[in-house]
Amino acid sequence: MKVMTAFPRASEFEKMREALTTLGLPFEIIDPSPGYSRVGCPAIAMEPETRAALASAHAEKCITAGWVEYRPTSIHIPASPPPSFAEDIFVTASIMVIAPCIADEKKIRLVAHLSGDVGAAMPYLNTEMREGCYNADGETFTFMDGYRMITVYPRRISIAKADDIIDAWRTLEKIRCRINDVYARRAAIEPTYEMRKKPPALEIYKRLPGTNCGICGQKTCMAFALSLWSGNAKPSQCMPIFEGDFSRLKAAFLEICSGLGVADTGMLFEEM
Ligand code: SF4
Repeated sequence: MKVMTAFPRASEFEKMREALTTLGLPFEIIDPSPGYSRVGCPAIAMEPETRAALASAHAEKCITAGWVEYRPTSIHIPASPPPSFAEDIFVTASIMVIAPCIADEKKIRLVAHLSGDVGAAMPYLNTEMREGCYNADGETFTFMDGYRMITVYPRRISIAKADDIIDAWRTLEKIRCRINDVYARRAAIEPTYEMRKKPPALEIYKRLPGTNCGICGQKTCMAFALSLWSGNAKPSQCMPIFEGDFSRLKAAFLEICSGLGVADTGMLFEEM
C-alpha cells in the first residue's frame, strides 16, 4: 500500500517534490485546489520503496506533518474557489500533525493550526449546534460529524477518524464556513456559555489501553472511562498512558478529555 505525507507549508511540499523529481522517483500529488485551498497545501503519496529511497538519499529534509497509509478517495475536490466572508475569523488552516487514528487505524487523525482566532464564535456555535459540547473554561468546542470527532480550540482544530486527507480538507472547509457563517449572524444569536453535552464514554474508552490493569483504581478500562465521564476521576490516574508503555495514546486521550472539561490544559498544549 502507498504511503502519504502532508505538509504544514507549501514551501515544504515544494522541497519534497523537487527532491523526488531530481532523484527520478515516482510520486503522486494530491492537491486541495481550488475548493479546499484555504485549509491545506498539496500532499504527496508514494510507494514505501520510494520513501525508503528518498530517505537513503538523505533528501527527505523537508518538514512533514507525518506519514499515513494512502487510501485513494472517491471524494471530489470542488472545482470552484472556497467562499469568502466579509469578517473571516478562521482565515486559513495548516495541517501540523497527521497520524493513524488511535481508535481506528484505517482512519487518520490530525491537528490543524489556524491563522485566525475562532474563540469569539464558540458561544454562538454552542447555541446553534446543540449536538456539541462547549467547555468555556478550557475554550474548546467538541462535536461529532458522523463518526469523526472534532475539537475546536481558538487557534487550532483536531479531527479524529477522518477517512483520508481529502476528507480532512473537506471537514476543515465545512468547519471554516460554519464558524464564519455563525459569526456573521452573531447579532441575531443569543450566546450560550454552559456545557450542554459531553463526548460519549465509549469514545473515551476507545482511547484507553484496554488492558484492565487496575492501576487507576478501577477494575476495568470501561469503568475508568465511566468515572472520567461522570467527573469522578482524573486523566492522570491512567498511569500506563502518562508514565508507562502506552504513551502513544496520550495525545488522543488528552484531546477527548479536553472536551469533557477534565484535561489539564497545560498538559494538552505540551503534547501538541
Ligand atoms: S490504569 Fe488505564 S489501562 Fe489500567 S485499567 Fe485503568 S484505564 Fe485501563
